[in-house]
Amino acid sequence: MALIEDNLYRKIKKATGKAIGEFNLIEEGDRIAIGVSGGKDSYTLLHILESLRRRSPVKYEIVAVNVDAGYPGYRTSVIEEHLKEYGFSHRMETTNCYDIIEEKRTPGTSYCSFCARLRRGVLYSLAEELGCNKIALGHHLDDFIETLLLNQFYSGTLKAMTPKLLADNGKHTVIRPMVYVEEQDIIKFTRHNGFPVICCACPVCGVVDQKRKRMKRLVREMTEEIPHLRRSMIGALGNVQPRHLLDRSLGDF
Ligand code: SF4
Repeated sequence: MALIEDNLYRKIKKATGKAIGEFNLIEEGDRIAIGVSGGKDSYTLLHILESLRRRSPVKYEIVAVNVDAGYPGYRTSVIEEHLKEYGFSHRMETTNCYDIIEEKRTPGTSYCSFCARLRRGVLYSLAEELGCNKIALGHHLDDFIETLLLNQFYSGTLKAMTPKLLADNGKHTVIRPMVYVEEQDIIKFTRHNGFPVICCACPVCGVVDQKRKRMKRLVREMTEEIPHLRRSMIGALGNVQPRHLLDRSLGDF
């Protein structure tokens, strides 16, 4: 089964292909594990990478990987059904991350950072087991610019994310091929194709971090005044002029 090619599909594919080319994200012989959580971003990434793969002169493989943290009510069967329906090679992994979090998390500390760290560890191990040298994540353009703003406003650093990063274990490369894809296009694409989006069923599922929510609103409000704001901000991340900043380790001071 394949999705119907329309303008939105082509637009997302073009933006993803651009990022892959510019940052050399995919190379001949790569085997890429795609983290599929059941959210809109990961479904979109999976379908777009598969579509690009089919027509690419560069030969690479993809495997959809789902890590079930063990939150009661997380309906992994819905994800697996979708993966089977479209013929994706996949691996569903059940873990006891939830029990570990409940037992070991210090009260008052972030649920998400503990959970994300544990699940990332599982993802790396699975990538290794499945012979994957790369791990693709579904972060999109809005994630990049919101993170840039969050760091500037709350942490006093000028940084966002990178589309390509050697993982902490030194073995895998993490790639984010949707760096140029806007979230609003992913939302429309997901609705249009009826992807079966499910909630991760964790205790903070659906609760958007208040600071990130504020950044989202800020970007939305400013876009009414400056329609090309998102493009300009993502462009700025690729057009850094250290001589016009204050970092003494970079400038000629
Ligand atoms: S939203 Fe839920 S599943 Fe996702 S990282 Fe946070 S705690 Fe984990």
